[in-house]
Amino acid sequence: MKLTGIPVSQGMVLDKSYILTAIPEFEMEEKSDTPAEVSIALIDRAVHQVLGELKTSKLRMAGNTDHIALIQVQEAMLDDACFREDIIRNVKLGYSPEAAVMRAAKAQEEMLASLGDPYMVARAEDMHDISCRLACCIADKNYPDICGMNDPAIVVAQDLLPSMLISVDDSKVKGIIIERGTKTSHVSILAASIGIPMIVSCAGAMNIKDGTMVFLDSDKGEVYSDLNDDEHKRFMEIAASFSEEKAKLKDLAACEALSADGERMIVSANIVEPMGLSKVIENGMDGVGLFRTEFMYMNRKKLPTEEEQYTVYRLAAEKLAGKPIIIRTMDIGGDKTVECLDLQHEDNPFMGYRAIRICLDHKHIMLTQLRAILRASAYGNVWVMFPMIATAKELKAVLDMLSEVKAELKEQCVPFDAHIKVGIMVEIPSAVVMLDVLIKHLDFVSIGSNDLIQYTFAADRLNKNVGYLYNYMDPAVLRLIKHTINIAYRAGVECSICGEMAGEALGMAALVALGLKKFSISPSLGLMAKKRMSLLNAGKLAEVGTMMLEVENADEATEVLKAALPPKYS
Ligand code: PEP
Ligand code: MG
Repeated sequence: MKLTGIPVSQGMVLDKSYILTAIPEFEMEEKSDTPAEVSIALIDRAVHQVLGELKTSKLRMAGNTDHIALIQVQEAMLDDACFREDIIRNVKLGYSPEAAVMRAAKAQEEMLASLGDPYMVARAEDMHDISCRLACCIADKNYPDICGMNDPAIVVAQDLLPSMLISVDDSKVKGIIIERGTKTSHVSILAASIGIPMIVSCAGAMNIKDGTMVFLDSDKGEVYSDLNDDEHKRFMEIAASFSEEKAKLKDLAACEALSADGERMIVSANIVEPMGLSKVIENGMDGVGLFRTEFMYMNRKKLPTEEEQYTVYRLAAEKLAGKPIIIRTMDIGGDKTVECLDLQHEDNPFMGYRAIRICLDHKHIMLTQLRAILRASAYGNVWVMFPMIATAKELKAVLDMLSEVKAELKEQCVPFDAHIKVGIMVEIPSAVVMLDVLIKHLDFVSIGSNDLIQYTFAADRLNKNVGYLYNYMDPAVLRLIKHTINIAYRAGVECSICGEMAGEALGMAALVALGLKKFSISPSLGLMAKKRMSLLNAGKLAEVGTMMLEVENADEATEVLKAALPPKYS
């Protein structure tokens, strides 16, 4: 049986399935005749027990800061006086202890979710998790726990909550298949940060039989079960060669990214929240080349405050301990819609009201974000980057806002890095054409190939019908990139790329051939990128780079490049 889902983190693994039973549901309206004092004593005892379990998990997770932070959040929730008061209030209203807990938790979950901030939404998930655990403890029911897993296995669940993952020895969890779930849920981020292959939204996953062999290819988002002997043998070989490759890659964590001819390359990471930083550090990457901050604005009703943003940016900057972190101002619009801004429906959102275009109209959004970024810059090597700049006039407008915020902070004696590096995404062809003008005001540029390709060909990056045009190997794109690199280098300005092109083997080779030395990619690809880099001879590829610009189409450019690549390069 073949099932498909959405890939969360990469890997190929063959192992036994471990089907996690569904989380018990508790009736919110359940009343009880038990005297209130007895119910309260029962609840307090359960809180004590769950706190003890969390403490044990914390001890087991010593050294894993992400896990410990999550456990601490749940501990604080259980210890929270308001939460306890609300539980007691519900008990006094006659609800059963379990119902009282679930009702108090629901109120907290709704409050957290209404804040809309993805961090708070994730906290609501934590609240749900910990209250279900507490209710199970009160009712003496089993909380579906991966801890019950004696041998390594691929966990299959309808849904998975963060505490289930943090309470288990993760070396036993070989993979995760979730029937529901989303890519951006806390548990997905956690699994990706640990490096467990995982897919979500895998319809039919719960039909997999417990304890049977399953092959999970989380790169492709595919699952195979009910394997026959031939399939079993084939998948065993694939999984073995994948894990061999992965083990070899680990040695590269301590190494700098170097090309085969000894050129130092910079491999940074694209992140959406500070949690992704564990992988960045673990893989020995050179910092963060793109922090997509718009995710802080999504799934919430109110805009994120300066304080919220400052806390997140500062945390990230501190975690990177001096390595650069490029914070991109919000890029809402296109396929990223938000509730907290009353944006009208547009027929053509990618060509419409997006990123800087919104901020120029709603200055307070930009000013708040810039204040938060600048304040965080006092605590690390923070750079600021503006997306979707199309004209010099737009650039001047955002730079004026930056100066305004700097002056205000200075006057208020708030510390910030007065020499913060300022850059733009080069992702609109007009910015490439006018780069010699724009560059005079910049410390760095970062090529946004995802958008640059779509705007070059007028081909929506999400529209499969025009996907044939969306090709980074087309000389039109390669020429724009080459022009950007030339203008930046000539001006002594740093130039990098943060579009997906850099994460692909062929894309990276093409960029090295064009003379690029700085790349920002998904943290999970960090080691692979270092390996690829070590196989590329930058000096020799430069000749190919020139040839790629002179051919007529993408196929010819690909052919020219492939002919120059070492046989093992992939
Ligand atoms: C890009 O356009 O290449 C880019 C990195 O930005 P985003 O994908 O967030 O638009
Ligand atoms: Mg972009």
